[in-house]
Amino acid sequence: MIDLEKLTIIKARKALDSKEFSAVDLASVYLAEIKKKNGELNAYLEVFSDVLEQAKAADARIAKGESLPLLGIPLAIKDNILIKGKKASSASKMLENYVASYDATAIEKLKKQGAVFLGRTNMDEFALGGSTENSAYGVTKNPHDMRRVPGGTSGGSAACVASSMALAALGSDTGGSIRLPSAFCGVVGIKPTYGRVSRSGLMAAVSSFDVIGPIAKTVEDARVIYEVIKGQDLLDSTTISETTYPKTSFKKDLTIGVPWDLINGEGVNQNVKDNFSEVIKKLEKLGFKIKDIKLPNCLALYYIINFAEVSTNLARFDGVRYGLHKNGKNLFEDYMLSKGAGFGKETRRRVLLGAYVLSAGYYDAYYGKAQKAREALRKEFKDIYSEIDLILTPTCPIPAWKIGEKSDALSMYLADIFTVTANIVGIPAMSLPSGFSEIEGKKLPLGIQFMASHGGEDLLFEIGKKFDEIKDSP
Ligand code: GLN
Repeated sequence: MIDLEKLTIIKARKALDSKEFSAVDLASVYLAEIKKKNGELNAYLEVFSDVLEQAKAADARIAKGESLPLLGIPLAIKDNILIKGKKASSASKMLENYVASYDATAIEKLKKQGAVFLGRTNMDEFALGGSTENSAYGVTKNPHDMRRVPGGTSGGSAACVASSMALAALGSDTGGSIRLPSAFCGVVGIKPTYGRVSRSGLMAAVSSFDVIGPIAKTVEDARVIYEVIKGQDLLDSTTISETTYPKTSFKKDLTIGVPWDLINGEGVNQNVKDNFSEVIKKLEKLGFKIKDIKLPNCLALYYIINFAEVSTNLARFDGVRYGLHKNGKNLFEDYMLSKGAGFGKETRRRVLLGAYVLSAGYYDAYYGKAQKAREALRKEFKDIYSEIDLILTPTCPIPAWKIGEKSDALSMYLADIFTVTANIVGIPAMSLPSGFSEIEGKKLPLGIQFMASHGGEDLLFEIGKKFDEIKDSP
């Protein structure tokens, strides 16, 4: 019997190498679990038909004595990451039948390792949202409370990991899409430094914010995947050589900056605040220094750049080159009908707002100003990190909300207040489970977020491990 709930990548690796179970055994147990649970959770959009073949191939390599960290490890992949020959729809009607013609670089690296891809996971259409409710294929449910959202946009990936339907998963993060669902589902998620993991084969949402990263049950597991997928790639010129990153080292007396103004500000739920204060006490007990810092609210800046880049990137889905096509009386009508039928409401909203902030006459007032503010923020962060080692915040100001509860876009955008800053600046950030909040008889997971300076992933993994050891202490 394989105990999926307690299984980690590290444990599975040992068991596969010592022949305690085979990759086929492991994949079969996951397939059975998916069969049992996915109908209700709707975390997978598709379970691949060749899972057992992939597992057999992994077993053959193990039998030859190969041992790579992810050989035979079953993973779930977000639906906006290309796997050659498989459908990839970004949870959009526009790409319902799109089949990828090449592998994303992260996928190529995982394939070399011999990882087993179980299926593609649900998400907000084109990674726009925060709850997975914007999927064209129905919402994913939170495994901790089926009435609630799993967070988004990588909600399917986080729900798969939290419900033992995958050992770990890939997500993508543009403004919190790995971290927010990780917090809502009680798992670990890391958004790497911008450019540390290749974006080749990731469908572009906001090219200057997007990054692929792992969602896993433990910090060590997330690290294993991160180490495999990171690195310079000629297919993504924003990736740089690993040797150019600064070396960060863990010290016992790290200084952790906390933006109390933002945390004590309007809109942060009391349970979240209480949990955060507990976390701070525990960190102080360990000897870390806590320092008050000032961080601005970056939501307006984030969303202006988001709308602008989304509208530019999604212009390629015109009904001619990719996916859905509707016939009108002329080309213009073809475009209108195809986009109208192919894009969901939130996607259409962003395309329109993006066209607005980029249009002549408004460009300087919105997009131009946002770019200047972004540059100023980058400088500000350099100064901040000269005085502290890490920044700590809750991952989200509120716990998982009920499906359908946030019907206006703006209230959903507000949930991103702590996560978007790392994408604007390009720094790495990690969400860690920090406890539960009891709401209406259910225990809902809460998360905290550590942000390191550029290239500081190692520091995040170290502090993450430390925090994991102490988080359940009184
Ligand atoms: N919630 C944010 C948005 O809708 C972030 C999405 C993401 O990271 N892909 O833009």
